[in-house]
Amino acid sequence: MVAAYNRSAMTAPESRVGTGYDLHRLVPGRPLIIGGVHVPAEFGPLGHSDADVLLHAVVDALLGAIGAGDIGRRYPDTDPRWQGADSGRFVRETAALLRARGWALVNVDASVLLERPKLSPHLTQMEANLAAALGVPAERVSVKAKTGEGLDAVGQGDAVACHAVALVTRVAGPAPSPH
Ligand code: MG
Repeated sequence: MVAAYNRSAMTAPESRVGTGYDLHRLVPGRPLIIGGVHVPAEFGPLGHSDADVLLHAVVDALLGAIGAGDIGRRYPDTDPRWQGADSGRFVRETAALLRARGWALVNVDASVLLERPKLSPHLTQMEANLAAALGVPAERVSVKAKTGEGLDAVGQGDAVACHAVALVTRVAGPAPSPH
């Protein structure tokens, strides 16, 4: 087993996986922006930036995969620069960081948790927006939608949340840059 592991480690490109999670409280009068799509609703997520849970979870998945910290450390909500910020910027910058460190994105998969409204009409656009920000073909990006079945904070309509996973593969030697 050890010999087989060593042989595959020498020939297969190094891959890494990262997970991300985000949740925001829903309040009246805020725009509901998910994956860069403005979803019609009379409520939206409270947050310092545009509070886009899908993009925030994906950024954390990417940062986790390359061991580069988390979104809160890179874009602290105490920094006035990120007040009302378009979270697409966070995705574009994180994708650039990934490339700079010698990694390529294999795929991203995400599940958005929201009780209502239905997100199914918007998922393809969310995938397209995410793929454009990441600089990869849309077929490498998957966005799914779930409800909370009337249970918990999501189910009660009090929150929107998102889980994401990202896989990256090494395409160039590691850059000697610190976090
Ligand atoms: Mg967030």
